[in-house]
Amino acid sequence: MKTYQIALVPGDGIGKEVVPAGRKVLETLAHTTDSFQFEFEAFDWGGDYYRKHGLMMPANGLDALRGKDAILFGSAGDPDIPDHITLWGLRLKICQGLDQYANVRPTRILPGIDGPLKRCRPEDLNWVIVRENTEGEYSGVGGRMHQGHSIEVATDLSLMTRAGVERILRYAFRLAQSRPRKLLTVITKSNAQRHAMVMWDEIAAQIAAGFPDVTWDKELVDAATARMVNRPASLDTIVATNLHADILSDLAAALAGSLGIAPTANINPERVYPSMFEPIHGSAFDIMGKGLANPIGTFWSVVLLLEHLGEMAAARRVMQAIEHVAANPRLHTRDLGGNATTNEVTEAVCAEIAATTRNSLAQA
Ligand code: ATP
Repeated sequence: MKTYQIALVPGDGIGKEVVPAGRKVLETLAHTTDSFQFEFEAFDWGGDYYRKHGLMMPANGLDALRGKDAILFGSAGDPDIPDHITLWGLRLKICQGLDQYANVRPTRILPGIDGPLKRCRPEDLNWVIVRENTEGEYSGVGGRMHQGHSIEVATDLSLMTRAGVERILRYAFRLAQSRPRKLLTVITKSNAQRHAMVMWDEIAAQIAAGFPDVTWDKELVDAATARMVNRPASLDTIVATNLHADILSDLAAALAGSLGIAPTANINPERVYPSMFEPIHGSAFDIMGKGLANPIGTFWSVVLLLEHLGEMAAARRVMQAIEHVAANPRLHTRDLGGNATTNEVTEAVCAEIAATTRNSLAQA
């Protein structure tokens, strides 16, 4: 039997509710199979840790993660700590430190979920957004001087390397190639950003030459927002820079019904380091501690985690359980217009996983 080492980093806010729910799903799954099990190690990093130690995670925290098979993450954000400290001190530190350069965000309208687009059928919206996750606008290069004086100046440099752009575009072309439509849209802004984004476009054309079976096009990021709303079926796989994809994927999550449903994978494709899986939403302090958090985004992230481990059958079973539960309006949390609690949704998904195992055993 295989044993997977899983790090749990709930972080802040509703992360502390949805990550334990995700663990329950993984434990339920492990109880239904003889082929793998999980060993969990939980890390109490985040805002509370910062209040005690002045850091979001220990300086050598990455060492504790390096040997894991995967990381399940909640969120980083605290009303009393500036956002740039919580983000850079935890999530970005892990993503950049473990070279998780491909951030992958699937978006679909699940059965039973009412998306806000009137003319969009569920089959019209089936996207995967690939976000460059280690450089670009989030390079952290820049500074401030003359602080507080009238001549104050501040810079944030968007830094793109040929190696960084090549690897993310190659990853996106490969992913597009693996999907039935073999369709990739490369998001750009090379009309206004006339250096790095022009290099991005040139590299896209160079990489595309190695993927003759992938149909690809280029779209300006502003035009892409309108296209997502007006012609969702014209998109399939989408690749964009760190900031552009950050914004487009929140729009994508909203168009699919709720921020509470959408998952993310932060992938180190070469598998030198563990990859990290997390719901796309943040810490949502307005609903924290009330049992209102939708755990589906975390469960879908668990599906991505299982796929990354190569446990495809288990991933399919969790996804089927999610779809089964999403299709029942009585099991919708408040963000979806319902009254169900985090626990009720978690119990229902776990029960469905257990039931599908009993059925498949009975058929065997
Ligand atoms: P952060 O600053 O950490 O990104 P935030 O509170 O600004 O957090 P989000 O948490 O991403 O932003 O979400 C915005 C709002 O969407 C929340 O305030 C909450 O009401 C709702 N929301 C987000 N995630 C969920 C969820 N899983 N279940 C229910 N509602 C959610």
